[in-house]
Amino acid sequence: MTIEASTGALERARKAYGELVARGLSLDLTRGKPAPEQLGLSDALLALPGTGRYRAADGSDVRNYGNLRGLRELREIFAGPLQVPADQLLAAGNSSLELMHDCLVHALLGVVPGAESRWADQERIAFLCPVPGYDRHFFLCERFGIEMIPVPMTDDGPDMDEVERLAAADPAVKGIWCVPKYSNPSGVCFSDETTARLAAMPTAAPDFRIFWDNAYAVHHLTDEPVEIADLLAACAAAGNPDRALVFGSTSKITTAGSGVAFFGASEANLDWLLAKNAKRSIGPDKVNQLRHAMFLRDEEGVRAHMERQRALLQPKFDAVARILEAELGGTGLAAWTSPKGGYFVTLDVPEGCAKEVVRRAAEAGIVLTPAGATHPYGNDPRDATIRLAPSYPSLEELEQAVEGLAVCVRLVGEERRNGER
Ligand code: PMP
Repeated sequence: MTIEASTGALERARKAYGELVARGLSLDLTRGKPAPEQLGLSDALLALPGTGRYRAADGSDVRNYGNLRGLRELREIFAGPLQVPADQLLAAGNSSLELMHDCLVHALLGVVPGAESRWADQERIAFLCPVPGYDRHFFLCERFGIEMIPVPMTDDGPDMDEVERLAAADPAVKGIWCVPKYSNPSGVCFSDETTARLAAMPTAAPDFRIFWDNAYAVHHLTDEPVEIADLLAACAAAGNPDRALVFGSTSKITTAGSGVAFFGASEANLDWLLAKNAKRSIGPDKVNQLRHAMFLRDEEGVRAHMERQRALLQPKFDAVARILEAELGGTGLAAWTSPKGGYFVTLDVPEGCAKEVVRRAAEAGIVLTPAGATHPYGNDPRDATIRLAPSYPSLEELEQAVEGLAVCVRLVGEERRNGER
């Protein structure tokens, strides 16, 4: 670009930004929450199981204490989607994040199968963190003083050369965070090769664990649902049966916050968690589990329900892609993902610009996830990644927010091109 053209572009970007601020918007693109219409798809849940319905398929009374494994009929529905045999799947409370939290706590304070001692007794504990990643995974590590080692994401999952090198070299590396399908926030799906290598790689820690957070297992946005490899089976086949801890939930299937969470693992890991959980709780909320089993009915019921979710979500993701392309395509100022499922779009802006884009957007009334949230310790060393969560706002609000965001990207990008940043 010539100096004149570049200065002209900056002038235009400044003018557009001034107009944007003058509109006095108040829009929020921060968190991946389902929109009210999405929650409405599960309204029938609120009337279930219904007066007089309190027997599980095995005849037990769901109103009473007990059954730490959760209702079998619900575990059978989710065995396929989560790739865990029903016998190895627990239906638990309302949050998979809680299960991940509990697994960390139990590993710190108890001895996981295969471990020589409690993690808390070891001088240093580290987890591999594919980046960009999910901030709440990182918060858990921070909370418990677990060191985070960033590993770059590729289109096939984490950079496996790097993962293998780090896991083999350092016995303090006890685990890795993985969102294997429609990853938060990159939308990446792990290739079969990535999964096979994770299952089989030598690790210096005998008690290495893969936290396989399959939060978006059935959350497709295209006609070609992505299938990923079965980690639990791959670990067993590779002689590392205890390496995989599988998590999932209905938070973004039915209701966020009052759904059902699942945990899948080897028998040894299940026994370990069940023994610890038996001290923590006298049993999960089986009334909620029964209502979910009645509402979803079977795997086909889940599939049909997720089609209805997709009908609401896809127009929003399409709008994000359309507006970003129209406003920023060919400018060299941004690149973005086109996820085939899940809840997020990752927007990459020129290095050193993400924080400033988020700041300018906030000034114009558009709240974005803080820049850096996608990286351990909130520190994106390139300051280039912004996570967009299109699900919650209405389509109209979303369009306004993304148009406004594009104005901010152009402003900050042009300022940088002109050496003003
Ligand atoms: N894992 C990932 C990757 C998520 O994106 C989310 C929700 N944002 C969760 C877990 C939280 O799940 P839950 O509601 O089951 O705790």
